[in-house]
Amino acid sequence: MKIYLNGKLVDRERATVSVYDHGLLYGDGVFEGIRAYRRLVFKLEEHLDRLFESAHTLMLTVPLSKAQLAAAVIQTLKANHLADAYIRVVVTRGPGDLGLDPRKCPRPTLFIIADRIVLYPDQLYREGLSIVTVPTQRNVPEALNPQIKSLNYLNNILAKIEATNAGSAEALMLNAQGYVAECTGENVFLVKRRAVLTPPPYVGLLRGITRDTVMALARRQRLAVREEVLTRHDLFNADECFLTGTAAEIVPVVRIDGRVIGTGRPGPVTGVLRRAYQRLTRTDGVRY
Ligand code: PMP
Repeated sequence: MKIYLNGKLVDRERATVSVYDHGLLYGDGVFEGIRAYRRLVFKLEEHLDRLFESAHTLMLTVPLSKAQLAAAVIQTLKANHLADAYIRVVVTRGPGDLGLDPRKCPRPTLFIIADRIVLYPDQLYREGLSIVTVPTQRNVPEALNPQIKSLNYLNNILAKIEATNAGSAEALMLNAQGYVAECTGENVFLVKRRAVLTPPPYVGLLRGITRDTVMALARRQRLAVREEVLTRHDLFNADECFLTGTAAEIVPVVRIDGRVIGTGRPGPVTGVLRRAYQRLTRTDGVRY
C-alpha cells in the first residue's frame, strides 16, 4: 500500500512520523474521513472545505491548496488501484519540541491514507442498532468546538469505552444541559409523523457532511426536515431513529437505553433515505 506523506507516495512501512510531531504529542492537528464509491470521490469539496476551516481556526497551515490536496487524494487512490475506498486526510502541526507552543513547529505534516473500507455487518443495517446514553457529556463548544475536526478525540473515545462497557455498540452523547448531541462518530436523527428531526449544531455536535446530505435528500422526498433541540424523551418516543456518518452512511437505531423505538425494526423512512443515499453515492462525486 502506498501512503501519501509530505508530497511523496511511500510504502506503508516507510510512512512514519516523528515522535516529536505535535499531532501525536498533543493531538494538535485536523483530519477528514472521505469515501470513494466506484471511482467517484463523494463530497470531496465539502470535506476539504471542512478540513481547511478546522485548520484555519487552529491557525494551522495546510501545506497544499485545496486543488492540490484534491489532486493528492486522487493520486493516492490511483496509486492503490482502489475503486471503493475510505480515505483519511490528516494534517498535523508537525515536529516541534516538547513544549506545546505551535510556533516551534515550522513544518506541518500531511498524510493521506486510502484503504479498503471495513463495512459494518449487513445484519446491523437489517436489524438496527441498540445504543445507550453515556455519562461523558459532549465537549462544551465554548471550550472545544466540535466543528473543529481535530486529532483530539478523547471526548468521543471515553464515550465509546462507556458504551462498550455497557455492552452497546454505540454511545449517545448529551450536551452539558442534557440535550441530545450526537454519537461518537455519527450524527443522530429521529423521525416522528413523517418529520425528520436532528439537533442544531449549536447544541454541540459536528455538523456532519452526511447529515447535510441526508437533510437535503429528505427534503427531496417531501418530508419535513427540522433542526430541533431534542431530549432523550423525544428519541424514546420517535417512530424511527437513525445515525449518519461518512463511514457508516445511515444506520437504523431500534433501541435506546432499553426503550424500543417505534416497531423495534428499521423504519420505512430510514429505508427510503438509505436507498436515496446509496443512489447518490453511485452517481455523484469527483471521478478519477
Ligand atoms: N460526529 C462526529 C463526532 C464525527 O466524528 C463524525 C464523523 N466524521 C460525524 C459526526 C459524521 O460526520 P460526517 O457525516 O461528515 O462523516
